[in-house]
Amino acid sequence: MEKNVAISWLINFNEKIQANSAYLNTLDTPIGDGDHGANMARGMTAVIETLASKEMLDASEVFKVSGMQLLTKVGGASGPLYWSAFTGIAKGLSAGQSIDNALDSGLNDIKKRGNSDIGEKTLIDVWAPVIKSLSTGERLTDQTIDTFVDATKDLKASKGRASYLGDRSIGHIDPGAYSSGLFFKAMLESGGA
Ligand code: ADP
Ligand code: MG
Ligand code: MG
Repeated sequence: MEKNVAISWLINFNEKIQANSAYLNTLDTPIGDGDHGANMARGMTAVIETLASKEMLDASEVFKVSGMQLLTKVGGASGPLYWSAFTGIAKGLSAGQSIDNALDSGLNDIKKRGNSDIGEKTLIDVWAPVIKSLSTGERLTDQTIDTFVDATKDLKASKGRASYLGDRSIGHIDPGAYSSGLFFKAMLESGGA
């Protein structure tokens, strides 16, 4: 992946996060503590500042450096998880992997960090089907991504704050799944995949 593609992907992701920050907080209110939008907005602001102030070597470094900003600025559960994701992508890209394999490397690092897997009503429930679509050559669209995000409504949370609610977590979209949906829509728009 070209460095400039990675940068425009993250610039686009930041725009979507800022535009949806209030909505992400709203999603996090019934099944969490109402801060997911504020967390991600703070983290992505730091990412954009860093990308504007330093010359990046390549796409791998873009994700590595941005991941560090997310780790230190997002906080909560999602900060370390997005950091793991970005670090995994950076490792994959520096090893010359295609984007679907690099994303899979990111997904594996999320699972390790979160001690979590598919079906637990987390961002994994968007990452996994998106990567599957890409690697099987299916056409990934915004609509497909929405389908994956919306499907988290029916799941019962077994990880993170939402898991404290048990069955009462059912019927709500997972906020991390929604922010990850924005990440993949930004990827499609910037030609990342
Ligand atoms: P916090 O819950 O600490 O306030 P955020 O609100 O920023 O953090 O992020 C919540 C999101 O993090 C959830 O919607 C979910 O997608 C994700 N998440 C939480 N715990 C885990 C986990 N163990 N594995 C994967 N994702 C998780
Ligand atoms: Mg929260
Ligand atoms: Mg919190």
